[in-house]
Amino acid sequence: MKYISTRGGGEPKSFEEVVLTGLAPDGGLYVPQELPKFSQEEIASWAGLSYQDLALKIITPFVDGAIPHADLKELIDKSYSTFRHGGIAPLIQTGHNEWIMELFHGPTLAFKDFALQFLGNLLDYILAKRNQKVVIMGATSGDTGSAAIEGCRRCENIDIFILHPHNRVSEVQRRQMTTVAADNVHNIAMHGNFDDCQNMVKASFSDQSFLPEGRQLAAVNSINWARIMAQIVYYFWASLSLGGPRRKVSFSVPTGNFGDIFAGYLAHKMGLPIEQLVIATNQNDILHRCISENDHSTRPLEQSLAPSMDIMISSNFERLLFDLYDNDGAAIAELMKDAKAGHMQLSDSALGRAREMFSSYRCDNDGMLEIIRSVLKESDYLMDPHTAIGLDAARHCRANNETPMVTLATAHPAKFPDAVREAGYPNDPELPTHMSDLFEKEEHYTVLGNDQDAVQAFIAGNITA
Ligand SMILES: *Cc1c(COP(=O)(O)O)cnc(C)c1O
Repeated sequence: MKYISTRGGGEPKSFEEVVLTGLAPDGGLYVPQELPKFSQEEIASWAGLSYQDLALKIITPFVDGAIPHADLKELIDKSYSTFRHGGIAPLIQTGHNEWIMELFHGPTLAFKDFALQFLGNLLDYILAKRNQKVVIMGATSGDTGSAAIEGCRRCENIDIFILHPHNRVSEVQRRQMTTVAADNVHNIAMHGNFDDCQNMVKASFSDQSFLPEGRQLAAVNSINWARIMAQIVYYFWASLSLGGPRRKVSFSVPTGNFGDIFAGYLAHKMGLPIEQLVIATNQNDILHRCISENDHSTRPLEQSLAPSMDIMISSNFERLLFDLYDNDGAAIAELMKDAKAGHMQLSDSALGRAREMFSSYRCDNDGMLEIIRSVLKESDYLMDPHTAIGLDAARHCRANNETPMVTLATAHPAKFPDAVREAGYPNDPELPTHMSDLFEKEEHYTVLGNDQDAVQAFIAGNITA
Protein backbone atom coordinates (compact mmCIF):
# COMPACT_ATOMS: atom_id res chain seq x y z
CA MET A 1 0.00 0.00 0.00
CA LYS A 2 1.21 3.49 -0.89
CA TYR A 3 0.56 6.75 0.90
CA ILE A 4 -0.10 10.16 -0.63
CA SER A 5 -0.01 13.73 0.66
CA THR A 6 -3.26 15.59 1.30
CA ARG A 7 -1.84 18.49 -0.72
CA GLY A 8 -1.31 16.40 -3.78
CA GLY A 9 2.48 16.89 -4.10
CA GLY A 10 5.27 14.34 -4.44
CA GLU A 11 5.38 10.68 -5.35
CA PRO A 12 3.43 8.09 -3.34
CA LYS A 13 5.46 6.81 -0.39
CA SER A 14 5.88 3.45 1.29
CA PHE A 15 4.62 2.64 4.80
CA GLU A 16 8.13 2.82 6.26
CA GLU A 17 8.92 6.16 4.71
CA VAL A 18 5.66 7.63 5.94
CA VAL A 19 6.19 6.42 9.52
CA LEU A 20 9.70 7.89 9.55
CA THR A 21 8.81 11.23 7.96
CA GLY A 22 5.62 12.46 9.63
CA LEU A 23 4.80 15.55 7.57
CA ALA A 24 4.94 15.40 3.75
CA PRO A 25 7.42 17.77 2.03
CA ASP A 26 4.57 19.85 0.57
CA GLY A 27 3.23 20.47 4.07
CA GLY A 28 0.41 17.93 3.74
CA LEU A 29 -0.35 14.83 5.78
CA TYR A 30 -0.03 11.29 4.51
CA VAL A 31 -3.10 9.15 3.93
CA PRO A 32 -3.40 5.70 2.32
CA GLN A 33 -3.98 5.86 -1.40
CA GLU A 34 -6.79 3.38 -0.94
CA LEU A 35 -8.37 2.10 2.26
CA PRO A 36 -8.66 -1.59 3.04
CA LYS A 37 -12.31 -2.72 3.14
CA PHE A 38 -13.69 -5.49 5.31
CA SER A 39 -16.99 -7.29 4.71
CA GLN A 40 -19.59 -7.71 7.45
CA GLU A 41 -18.89 -11.46 7.55
CA GLU A 42 -15.19 -10.89 7.99
CA ILE A 43 -15.69 -8.35 10.78
CA ALA A 44 -18.23 -10.64 12.49
CA SER A 45 -15.70 -13.47 12.42
CA TRP A 46 -13.39 -11.39 14.66
CA ALA A 47 -15.76 -11.47 17.63
CA GLY A 48 -13.90 -13.12 20.47
CA LEU A 49 -10.41 -12.13 19.33
CA SER A 50 -8.13 -10.56 21.91
CA TYR A 51 -7.43 -6.84 21.47
CA GLN A 52 -3.96 -7.66 20.16
CA ASP A 53 -5.22 -10.17 17.60
CA LEU A 54 -7.90 -7.77 16.42
CA ALA A 55 -5.23 -5.07 16.05
CA LEU A 56 -3.21 -7.45 13.92
CA LYS A 57 -6.16 -8.01 11.55
CA ILE A 58 -6.76 -4.29 11.12
CA ILE A 59 -3.18 -3.11 10.89
CA THR A 60 -1.91 -5.83 8.53
CA PRO A 61 -3.34 -4.42 5.27
CA PHE A 62 -1.89 -0.95 6.02
CA VAL A 63 1.57 -2.37 6.57
CA ASP A 64 1.10 -4.47 3.48
CA GLY A 65 4.12 -6.73 3.68
CA ALA A 66 6.60 -4.06 4.82
CA ILE A 67 6.95 -6.07 8.05
CA PRO A 68 6.78 -9.88 8.16
CA HIS A 69 3.54 -11.04 9.77
CA ALA A 70 5.21 -12.75 12.75
CA ASP A 71 7.26 -9.63 13.51
CA LEU A 72 4.20 -7.41 13.28
CA LYS A 73 2.37 -9.68 15.68
CA GLU A 74 5.26 -9.46 18.12
CA LEU A 75 5.35 -5.65 17.86
CA ILE A 76 1.64 -5.41 18.57
CA ASP A 77 1.73 -7.91 21.44
CA LYS A 78 4.63 -6.08 23.03
CA SER A 79 2.93 -2.70 22.65
CA TYR A 80 -0.21 -3.67 24.54
CA SER A 81 1.50 -5.85 27.16
CA THR A 82 2.20 -2.65 29.13
CA PHE A 83 -1.52 -2.01 29.67
CA ARG A 84 -2.85 -2.66 33.16
CA HIS A 85 -6.27 -3.98 32.28
CA GLY A 86 -6.84 -7.41 30.78
CA GLY A 87 -9.47 -6.00 28.44
CA ILE A 88 -7.08 -3.26 27.21
CA ALA A 89 -10.07 -1.01 26.35
CA PRO A 90 -12.89 -2.01 28.73
CA LEU A 91 -16.45 -0.72 28.30
CA ILE A 92 -18.42 0.60 31.28
CA GLN A 93 -22.18 1.17 31.11
CA THR A 94 -23.36 4.56 32.39
CA GLY A 95 -26.95 4.59 31.16
CA HIS A 96 -29.44 3.00 28.78
CA ASN A 97 -27.40 1.98 25.77
CA GLU A 98 -24.79 4.45 26.96
CA TRP A 99 -21.19 3.31 27.37
CA ILE A 100 -17.80 4.64 28.21
CA MET A 101 -14.76 3.01 26.65
CA GLU A 102 -11.84 3.43 29.01
CA LEU A 103 -8.75 4.17 26.96
CA PHE A 104 -6.58 5.11 29.92
CA HIS A 105 -5.13 1.83 31.14
CA GLY A 106 -1.79 2.32 29.42
CA PRO A 107 1.42 3.44 31.16
CA THR A 108 0.62 7.20 31.16
CA LEU A 109 -3.13 6.98 31.80
CA ALA A 110 -4.24 8.63 28.56
CA PHE A 111 -5.45 7.21 25.26
CA LYS A 112 -2.27 8.41 23.55
CA ASP A 113 -0.56 5.27 24.85
CA PHE A 114 -2.55 3.22 22.31
CA ALA A 115 -0.71 4.92 19.51
CA LEU A 116 2.61 5.77 21.11
CA GLN A 117 3.43 2.43 22.69
CA PHE A 118 3.05 0.96 19.23
CA LEU A 119 4.80 3.79 17.37
CA GLY A 120 7.88 3.59 19.60
CA ASN A 121 8.26 -0.13 18.98
CA LEU A 122 7.50 0.25 15.29
CA LEU A 123 10.06 3.01 14.78
CA ASP A 124 12.73 1.11 16.66
CA TYR A 125 12.08 -1.96 14.52
CA ILE A 126 12.26 -0.03 11.25
CA LEU A 127 15.41 1.82 12.35
CA ALA A 128 17.17 -1.38 13.40
CA LYS A 129 16.39 -2.90 10.03
CA ARG A 130 17.79 0.12 8.23
CA ASN A 131 20.74 0.40 10.57
CA GLN A 132 19.73 3.96 11.33
CA LYS A 133 19.25 6.06 14.47
CA VAL A 134 17.08 9.13 15.00
CA VAL A 135 16.49 11.92 17.46
CA ILE A 136 12.89 12.54 18.39
CA MET A 137 12.16 16.10 19.34
CA GLY A 138 8.76 17.22 20.53
CA ALA A 139 6.95 19.89 22.49
CA THR A 140 4.22 19.07 24.94
CA SER A 141 1.65 20.82 27.04
CA GLY A 142 0.97 17.60 28.89
CA ASP A 143 -0.20 14.18 27.74
CA THR A 144 1.74 13.73 24.50
CA GLY A 145 5.15 14.16 26.08
CA SER A 146 4.76 11.47 28.70
CA ALA A 147 3.15 9.03 26.25
CA ALA A 148 5.98 9.60 23.75
CA ILE A 149 8.63 9.14 26.44
CA GLU A 150 7.01 5.92 27.66
CA GLY A 151 6.77 4.74 24.06
CA CYS A 152 10.48 5.33 23.39
CA ARG A 153 12.25 4.67 26.69
CA ARG A 154 13.28 1.15 25.70
CA CYS A 155 14.12 1.96 22.08
CA GLU A 156 17.77 1.39 21.23
CA ASN A 157 17.82 3.53 18.12
CA ILE A 158 16.07 6.60 19.46
CA ASP A 159 17.01 9.52 21.67
CA ILE A 160 13.99 11.50 22.73
CA PHE A 161 14.04 15.17 23.78
CA ILE A 162 10.77 16.58 25.05
CA LEU A 163 10.34 20.30 25.72
CA HIS A 164 7.71 21.42 28.17
CA PRO A 165 7.02 24.99 29.30
CA HIS A 166 8.78 25.40 32.66
CA ASN A 167 6.32 25.61 35.56
CA ARG A 168 3.34 25.45 33.20
CA VAL A 169 2.38 21.79 33.15
CA SER A 170 0.58 20.07 36.01
CA GLU A 171 2.68 18.27 38.59
CA VAL A 172 1.30 14.84 37.67
CA GLN A 173 2.04 15.46 34.01
CA ARG A 174 5.54 16.78 34.68
CA ARG A 175 6.40 13.91 36.98
CA GLN A 176 5.16 11.38 34.47
CA MET A 177 7.83 12.69 32.11
CA THR A 178 10.66 13.53 34.46
CA THR A 179 10.66 10.44 36.66
CA VAL A 180 11.49 8.15 33.76
CA ALA A 181 15.08 7.12 34.30
CA ALA A 182 16.56 6.09 30.95
CA ASP A 183 19.73 7.25 29.20
CA ASN A 184 17.91 8.05 25.98
CA VAL A 185 15.16 10.16 27.60
CA HIS A 186 15.82 13.89 28.00
CA ASN A 187 13.39 16.42 29.44
CA ILE A 188 13.89 20.11 28.79
CA ALA A 189 11.89 22.56 30.89
CA MET A 190 12.02 25.67 28.74
CA HIS A 191 11.24 29.18 29.91
CA GLY A 192 8.21 30.39 27.99
CA ASN A 193 4.84 28.92 27.04
CA PHE A 194 3.80 25.94 24.97
CA ASP A 195 3.92 27.94 21.72
CA ASP A 196 7.51 28.92 22.44
CA CYS A 197 8.37 25.24 22.88
CA GLN A 198 6.58 24.32 19.69
CA ASN A 199 8.31 27.10 17.75
CA MET A 200 11.65 25.86 19.00
CA VAL A 201 10.83 22.39 17.70
CA LYS A 202 9.69 23.75 14.34
CA ALA A 203 12.82 25.86 13.92
CA SER A 204 14.97 22.84 14.74
CA PHE A 205 13.21 20.66 12.18
CA SER A 206 13.69 23.21 9.44
CA ASP A 207 17.45 23.48 10.03
CA GLN A 208 18.94 20.29 11.45
CA SER A 209 22.59 21.24 10.99
CA PHE A 210 23.10 21.23 14.79
CA LEU A 211 22.85 17.43 14.81
CA PRO A 212 25.86 15.16 14.43
CA GLU A 213 26.53 13.72 10.99
CA GLY A 214 24.01 11.09 9.92
CA ARG A 215 21.36 11.95 12.52
CA GLN A 216 17.92 13.27 11.70
CA LEU A 217 14.97 14.49 13.68
CA ALA A 218 11.81 12.43 13.72
CA ALA A 219 8.36 13.46 14.93
CA VAL A 220 5.84 11.48 16.87
CA ASN A 221 3.16 14.18 17.00
CA SER A 222 -0.42 13.39 16.17
CA ILE A 223 0.01 13.80 12.43
CA ASN A 224 2.14 10.64 12.22
CA TRP A 225 0.11 8.17 10.18
CA ALA A 226 0.94 5.20 12.42
CA ARG A 227 -0.79 6.90 15.33
CA ILE A 228 -4.05 7.23 13.42
CA MET A 229 -3.76 3.65 12.22
CA ALA A 230 -3.36 2.25 15.74
CA GLN A 231 -6.42 4.18 16.90
CA ILE A 232 -8.74 2.61 14.32
CA VAL A 233 -8.62 -0.66 16.22
CA TYR A 234 -10.64 0.30 19.27
CA TYR A 235 -13.63 1.39 17.21
CA PHE A 236 -13.89 -2.17 15.90
CA TRP A 237 -13.26 -3.46 19.40
CA ALA A 238 -16.16 -1.47 20.90
CA SER A 239 -18.50 -2.43 18.10
CA LEU A 240 -17.72 -6.13 18.41
CA SER A 241 -18.31 -5.90 22.16
CA LEU A 242 -21.75 -4.35 21.67
CA GLY A 243 -23.35 -6.51 19.02
CA GLY A 244 -21.66 -5.14 15.93
CA PRO A 245 -21.24 -5.36 13.05
CA ARG A 246 -24.89 -6.52 12.81
CA ARG A 247 -25.84 -3.55 14.89
CA LYS A 248 -24.68 0.02 14.36
CA VAL A 249 -22.79 1.83 17.11
CA SER A 250 -22.23 5.57 17.66
CA PHE A 251 -19.22 7.27 19.21
CA SER A 252 -18.58 10.55 20.97
CA VAL A 253 -14.97 11.70 21.01
CA PRO A 254 -13.33 14.47 23.07
CA THR A 255 -11.53 16.20 20.24
CA GLY A 256 -8.39 18.29 19.99
CA ASN A 257 -6.26 17.68 16.93
CA PHE A 258 -8.93 15.45 15.36
CA GLY A 259 -6.70 12.37 15.23
CA ASP A 260 -8.77 10.17 17.49
CA ILE A 261 -12.12 10.84 15.85
CA PHE A 262 -10.65 10.67 12.36
CA ALA A 263 -9.64 7.09 13.16
CA GLY A 264 -13.34 6.42 13.79
CA TYR A 265 -14.22 7.90 10.42
CA LEU A 266 -11.73 5.55 8.78
CA ALA A 267 -13.17 2.58 10.67
CA HIS A 268 -16.53 3.45 9.14
CA LYS A 269 -15.07 3.75 5.66
CA MET A 270 -13.38 0.38 6.11
CA GLY A 271 -16.76 -1.27 6.60
CA LEU A 272 -17.67 -0.85 10.28
CA PRO A 273 -21.35 0.17 10.65
CA ILE A 274 -21.23 3.45 12.61
CA GLU A 275 -24.30 5.64 12.90
CA GLN A 276 -22.92 8.84 14.38
CA LEU A 277 -19.56 10.35 15.24
CA VAL A 278 -19.89 13.20 17.72
CA ILE A 279 -17.15 15.84 17.80
CA ALA A 280 -16.99 17.05 21.39
CA THR A 281 -15.14 20.34 21.97
CA ASN A 282 -14.54 22.60 24.94
CA GLN A 283 -14.74 26.40 24.67
CA ASN A 284 -12.06 26.23 21.98
CA ASP A 285 -14.83 25.24 19.63
CA ILE A 286 -13.60 25.85 16.09
CA LEU A 287 -14.62 22.36 14.95
CA HIS A 288 -18.06 22.68 16.48
CA ARG A 289 -18.56 26.02 14.74
CA CYS A 290 -17.30 24.54 11.49
CA ILE A 291 -19.68 21.58 11.50
CA SER A 292 -22.70 23.42 12.87
CA GLU A 293 -22.47 26.74 11.03
CA ASN A 294 -19.62 26.49 8.55
CA ASP A 295 -17.55 28.95 10.57
CA HIS A 296 -13.95 27.77 10.72
CA SER A 297 -12.42 31.03 11.95
CA THR A 298 -9.65 31.11 14.52
CA ARG A 299 -10.16 32.82 17.86
CA PRO A 300 -7.68 33.41 20.66
CA LEU A 301 -6.93 30.24 22.58
CA GLU A 302 -8.62 29.93 25.95
CA GLN A 303 -7.08 27.88 28.74
CA SER A 304 -9.66 25.36 29.85
CA LEU A 305 -9.86 22.63 32.47
CA ALA A 306 -9.57 20.10 29.63
CA PRO A 307 -6.18 21.30 28.35
CA SER A 308 -5.57 18.48 25.88
CA MET A 309 -8.44 19.85 23.81
CA ASP A 310 -7.19 23.45 23.85
CA ILE A 311 -6.35 23.88 20.18
CA MET A 312 -6.64 26.67 17.67
CA ILE A 313 -6.53 24.62 14.46
CA SER A 314 -6.88 20.82 14.42
CA SER A 315 -4.13 19.45 12.23
CA ASN A 316 -5.80 16.14 11.36
CA PHE A 317 -8.97 17.85 10.13
CA GLU A 318 -7.05 18.23 6.88
CA ARG A 319 -7.22 14.47 6.39
CA LEU A 320 -11.01 14.54 6.59
CA LEU A 321 -11.21 17.46 4.18
CA PHE A 322 -9.07 15.58 1.67
CA ASP A 323 -11.65 12.82 1.67
CA LEU A 324 -14.63 15.19 1.56
CA TYR A 325 -13.06 16.95 -1.45
CA ASP A 326 -12.51 13.65 -3.29
CA ASN A 327 -8.72 13.70 -2.85
CA ASP A 328 -8.32 17.08 -4.56
CA GLY A 329 -4.91 18.08 -3.17
CA ALA A 330 -4.91 21.50 -4.84
CA ALA A 331 -8.25 22.38 -3.23
CA ILE A 332 -6.91 21.30 0.17
CA ALA A 333 -3.76 23.40 -0.23
CA GLU A 334 -6.02 26.43 -0.87
CA LEU A 335 -8.28 25.65 2.07
CA MET A 336 -5.31 25.26 4.40
CA LYS A 337 -4.00 28.66 3.31
CA ASP A 338 -7.36 30.15 4.28
CA ALA A 339 -7.39 28.28 7.57
CA LYS A 340 -3.93 29.56 8.42
CA ALA A 341 -4.97 33.11 7.52
CA GLY A 342 -7.80 32.77 10.02
CA HIS A 343 -10.91 31.87 8.09
CA MET A 344 -11.88 28.82 6.06
CA GLN A 345 -15.26 27.97 4.58
CA LEU A 346 -16.27 24.55 3.30
CA SER A 347 -18.22 23.97 0.11
CA ASP A 348 -21.87 23.04 0.58
CA SER A 349 -21.29 19.55 -0.70
CA ALA A 350 -18.29 18.92 1.58
CA LEU A 351 -20.16 20.21 4.59
CA GLY A 352 -23.20 18.14 3.67
CA ARG A 353 -21.10 15.03 3.46
CA ALA A 354 -19.41 15.76 6.78
CA ARG A 355 -22.80 16.16 8.42
CA GLU A 356 -23.94 12.72 7.23
CA MET A 357 -21.55 11.23 9.75
CA PHE A 358 -20.55 13.97 12.19
CA SER A 359 -22.45 16.01 14.71
CA SER A 360 -20.79 18.36 17.15
CA TYR A 361 -21.24 19.98 20.52
CA ARG A 362 -19.42 22.51 22.67
CA CYS A 363 -19.19 21.99 26.41
CA ASP A 364 -17.49 24.69 28.48
CA ASN A 365 -15.91 24.40 31.95
CA ASP A 366 -19.21 24.81 33.79
CA GLY A 367 -21.01 22.19 31.71
CA MET A 368 -18.08 19.83 32.17
CA LEU A 369 -18.01 20.24 35.97
CA GLU A 370 -21.76 19.75 36.10
CA ILE A 371 -21.70 16.45 34.25
CA ILE A 372 -18.79 15.08 36.32
CA ARG A 373 -20.87 15.92 39.39
CA SER A 374 -24.11 14.38 38.13
CA VAL A 375 -22.59 11.15 36.80
CA LEU A 376 -20.71 10.71 40.06
CA LYS A 377 -24.01 11.03 41.89
CA GLU A 378 -26.10 8.86 39.52
CA SER A 379 -23.59 6.10 38.85
CA ASP A 380 -20.73 6.56 41.30
CA TYR A 381 -18.43 6.85 38.29
CA LEU A 382 -15.70 9.47 38.22
CA MET A 383 -14.68 10.93 34.85
CA ASP A 384 -11.78 13.15 33.85
CA PRO A 385 -12.67 16.53 32.30
CA HIS A 386 -12.07 15.41 28.68
CA THR A 387 -14.25 12.35 29.02
CA ALA A 388 -16.95 14.43 30.68
CA ILE A 389 -17.07 16.75 27.69
CA GLY A 390 -17.43 13.69 25.47
CA LEU A 391 -20.31 12.32 27.49
CA ASP A 392 -22.11 15.66 27.59
CA ALA A 393 -21.81 15.90 23.81
CA ALA A 394 -23.01 12.31 23.44
CA ARG A 395 -26.15 13.06 25.41
CA HIS A 396 -26.90 16.23 23.49
CA CYS A 397 -26.26 14.91 20.00
CA ARG A 398 -27.59 11.39 20.24
CA ALA A 399 -30.04 10.75 17.40
CA ASN A 400 -31.34 7.34 18.38
CA ASN A 401 -31.69 5.60 21.73
CA GLU A 402 -31.64 2.15 20.17
CA THR A 403 -28.08 2.56 18.98
CA PRO A 404 -25.38 2.10 21.60
CA MET A 405 -23.52 5.36 22.16
CA VAL A 406 -19.90 4.97 23.23
CA THR A 407 -17.97 7.90 24.70
CA LEU A 408 -14.21 7.55 24.51
CA ALA A 409 -12.66 8.09 27.94
CA THR A 410 -9.37 9.64 26.91
CA ALA A 411 -7.72 10.13 30.32
CA HIS A 412 -7.81 8.80 33.87
CA PRO A 413 -9.32 11.26 36.37
CA ALA A 414 -6.19 11.11 38.54
CA LYS A 415 -4.37 13.10 35.83
CA PHE A 416 -6.62 16.08 36.48
CA PRO A 417 -7.10 16.33 40.25
CA ASP A 418 -7.85 20.08 40.27
CA ALA A 419 -10.81 19.84 37.91
CA VAL A 420 -12.14 16.77 39.64
CA ARG A 421 -12.01 18.53 43.00
CA GLU A 422 -13.67 21.58 41.56
CA ALA A 423 -16.51 19.30 40.49
CA GLY A 424 -17.01 18.41 44.13
CA TYR A 425 -15.02 15.19 44.47
CA PRO A 426 -13.89 15.15 48.10
CA ASN A 427 -10.25 14.08 47.58
CA ASP A 428 -7.60 13.92 44.92
CA PRO A 429 -8.54 10.87 42.83
CA GLU A 430 -6.18 8.02 43.52
CA LEU A 431 -3.44 7.10 41.09
CA PRO A 432 -3.45 3.45 40.05
CA THR A 433 -1.16 1.32 42.20
CA HIS A 434 1.63 1.07 39.62
CA MET A 435 1.99 4.85 39.82
CA SER A 436 1.42 5.37 43.50
CA ASP A 437 5.11 6.24 44.04
CA LEU A 438 5.04 9.00 41.40
CA PHE A 439 5.49 11.72 43.99
CA GLU A 440 8.44 10.03 45.64
CA LYS A 441 10.51 9.28 42.56
CA GLU A 442 13.47 11.39 41.56
CA GLU A 443 12.91 13.85 38.72
CA HIS A 444 15.31 14.38 35.80
CA TYR A 445 15.08 17.54 33.74
CA THR A 446 17.14 20.47 32.59
CA VAL A 447 15.89 24.04 32.70
CA LEU A 448 16.91 26.08 29.67
CA GLY A 449 16.05 29.53 28.37
CA ASN A 450 14.07 30.17 25.21
CA ASP A 451 17.35 30.21 23.31
CA GLN A 452 17.84 28.19 20.16
CA ASP A 453 21.60 27.81 20.51
CA ALA A 454 21.33 26.59 24.08
CA VAL A 455 18.58 24.08 23.33
CA GLN A 456 20.27 22.73 20.24
CA ALA A 457 23.67 22.50 21.95
CA PHE A 458 22.03 20.56 24.77
CA ILE A 459 20.51 18.12 22.30
CA ALA A 460 23.69 17.67 20.30
CA GLY A 461 25.66 17.11 23.52
CA ASN A 462 23.33 14.53 25.02
CA ILE A 463 22.70 12.05 22.24
CA THR A 464 23.40 8.56 23.53
CA ALA A 465 21.80 6.05 21.15
C1 LIG B 1 -4.80 14.26 23.05
C2 LIG B 1 -6.03 14.21 23.88
C3 LIG B 1 -7.30 14.50 23.35
C4 LIG B 1 -7.50 14.96 21.92
O1 LIG B 1 -7.25 13.94 20.99
P1 LIG B 1 -7.07 14.31 19.44
O2 LIG B 1 -6.68 13.07 18.78
O3 LIG B 1 -5.99 15.36 19.41
O4 LIG B 1 -8.37 14.85 18.96
C5 LIG B 1 -8.40 14.36 24.17
N1 LIG B 1 -8.28 13.99 25.47
C6 LIG B 1 -7.07 13.72 26.02
C7 LIG B 1 -7.01 13.33 27.45
C8 LIG B 1 -5.91 13.81 25.25
O5 LIG B 1 -4.72 13.54 25.81
